[in-house]
This record gives sequence, structure tokens and C-alpha cells, in this order.
Amino acid sequence: MPRLLLFDIDGTLLDTGGAGGASLLDAVEELYGVSRGSLPPLNLAGATDGGIVRQLFEQVGREMTPAAVDEYMRSYLAHLQRRLQDREFIGQTLPGTRELLQALTAAGGADLGLLTGNVRRGAEMKLARFDLGGHFVEGAFGDDAEDRNHLGPVAMRRMSGATGRSYPVSEVIVIGDTPKDIACAHAIGARCLAVGTGNFEAAALSTHSPWVCLENLADTDRVCEILLS
Ligand SMILES: [Mg+2]
Repeated sequence: MPRLLLFDIDGTLLDTGGAGGASLLDAVEELYGVSRGSLPPLNLAGATDGGIVRQLFEQVGREMTPAAVDEYMRSYLAHLQRRLQDREFIGQTLPGTRELLQALTAAGGADLGLLTGNVRRGAEMKLARFDLGGHFVEGAFGDDAEDRNHLGPVAMRRMSGATGRSYPVSEVIVIGDTPKDIACAHAIGARCLAVGTGNFEAAALSTHSPWVCLENLADTDRVCEILLS
């Protein structure tokens, strides 16, 4: 049976050092003349970009028309690209990310995809910043649905289309860092490997009943064994 591993990005594989959240606010300031300091804190953990845009548009009193969202996303992505390339960028891959992706790719026992709230272009930029994009075949993104629970079937369908293999949910594992990642795995009947490298400690994640919960992905051999056996 083909195994499918669906990875979240922020807090799971990498940390942009605040560049992602800052770019979302840069776009608000640029387009709507609202200062970031006047807005309540954004709830980013496990959210989709579409859900975040909805929060922001409500806060600045804008209607969420397709044209307005397009304009907003273009601005956000331009700021994100700038911040990812900035000399003061302090983002980093999380412990074990690079080694794990290399080991999984080398082992060949699973197909690797993405299940992320980032819009596709934002996901590509973040992964490219660390040269990680080549490990992933396809995925589901924040521009596919606002509700993360709707992304699992999209990811499975896209991965099947790309690889020609069909994946029973018993062979699908979602790897993520928030209760919303765990919920979106449960929504499709898949397992979730939850990792405490984002805003939630492993102990807090474990109360949401993930299949496995780890402090981090640093132990490459152990994580490979968990994901491939
Ligand atoms: Mg995350």
C-alpha cells in the first residue's frame, strides 16, 4: 500500500522568524493605511491564509471580494519575498527537518506532499528560502479552502493525480504542529504526528489525541521509523 505523508510548513518544518506574520500586516498597512499597532494580535497558528485574510478584512472593515483578496495576496507575497531575502531575516529550519526530508526521500517508502494553510505561492517561497521544495510532489494550500479541515481530501486527490497512486486513509499521515493539524487529520480519518516545535508544547498537543506526539523531529531514525513502518 502506498504511504502518503502530508506536511504542514510553519512550526513543523520551518520558522520564518516572524517574516510571514509581518508580511501579512505589511500588506494591510500598504493597501489600507491602517497601522499594525492598531490591530488586535493575529491568531496564525494552524490558520489558513484565507482565514487570516478574513480576520484582517473584518478588522479593517473591508469587504472580502475576489478582487480585493487578489490585491491583498499580491501585496502580501511581494512583502514576503522581500522579508525572506532580507539581510536581517532570522528564520530557520526546525531541528531535524532537512535530515528527515532527505532520509524520507532517500528511503523511498512514501510519497511526500504538503497540507498547509499557506497559499501555494507563499508555501513555495518559504520552502525555496531553505531549498526544501524539491521533496514535495503536490499538496493542498490556503487558496484551496478557508477551513483547514477541507484541505485533506484536496491534498490526497492532487497527490494521486501527480503520482498515479491511490492512498487509503489508513496510509495517510499528517505531520503538523497545532490542534488544527490534528483536527484536519481526524476529519479525513487519517493519523497525525504532532510536533511541539510551533506555538504549542507537545504536552498541550497530546490532549487533542494525535496518533503520535513528539517534542521535535530531531531524531531522524526514530521519526523515519514512525512514519514509514
Ligand atoms: Mg503550522
